[in-house]
Amino acid sequence: SKDQWEVDPEELTLGQEIGSGQFGLVLEGTWNQRKVAVKMIREECMSDDEFKEEARVMMRLSHCKLVQLYGVCTQHSPMCLVFEFMENGCLSDYLRARKGHLSQDLMLGMCLDVSEGMAYLESSNFIHRDLAARNCLVSENNEVKVSDFGMTRFVLDDQYTSSLCSKFPVKWSAPEVIKFCKFSSKSDVWSFGVLMWEVYNEGRLPYENRSNAEVVESLNSGLRLLKPRLAPDAVYLLMEWCWKEKPEDRPTFALLLHELASVSDL
Ligand code: ADP
Repeated sequence: SKDQWEVDPEELTLGQEIGSGQFGLVLEGTWNQRKVAVKMIREECMSDDEFKEEARVMMRLSHCKLVQLYGVCTQHSPMCLVFEFMENGCLSDYLRARKGHLSQDLMLGMCLDVSEGMAYLESSNFIHRDLAARNCLVSENNEVKVSDFGMTRFVLDDQYTSSLCSKFPVKWSAPEVIKFCKFSSKSDVWSFGVLMWEVYNEGRLPYENRSNAEVVESLNSGLRLLKPRLAPDAVYLLMEWCWKEKPEDRPTFALLLHELASVSDL
């Protein structure tokens, strides 16, 4: 009998390349009459036995604001992951391409979409660990969905996994993650604050001209990212709340979702 998460390679048609990432190439494809994105996993990049175990958990996570994992194709090398296709690509590129043309409603809507997806992950006790605009994708009808949840655990590149190394996403990380690798839904909330900052800065990178070491030092002295010109006061207050030093002083995603929804009623 076939595992439910196993995609039959006969049912999968591969098309053109649409990107490349941490684990290798991403191709467009078709599976069961559905357009899909297929991640071809380069063996040396991923601890794939551990991933196969976790794939079962990830496939059970299902929400309209999460990029759905449909299945994995493990019978051939390279292993492939089959995902819901997102027509409008990653959120950071999407924001940069529409610079100067993003309405307040649109920007708040993006934050709401992400907070909904994250509230679902929080309620499922699943930690994202790498939330950032680059790890969200935009659908055909401009909905934002959270992607790549939990995937950093399977990266084999040391440069990525130690907070002292160049590829670690320090600029999105909570202090307790940088210091002790203490991940939690509350460290995801910190990253969400930075993601909101990216949205209201139309895709600019946070702390653009600063090194990771300089960022750590300024966080330690209590400094935070400045209010984006386009952000309403109420939204910047939420960002600052996400960046409280102590995890327990930060809001939950459930609360953030509620607060963002009430900003949109103003
Ligand atoms: P990785 O997580 O392995 O680093 P990414 O998820 O960043 O790789 O994917 C690289 C690129 O491939 C993205 O920037 C995006 O353009 C494209 N891509 C990834 N997943 C999808 C998807 N589900 N639908 C459409 N495009 C995708």
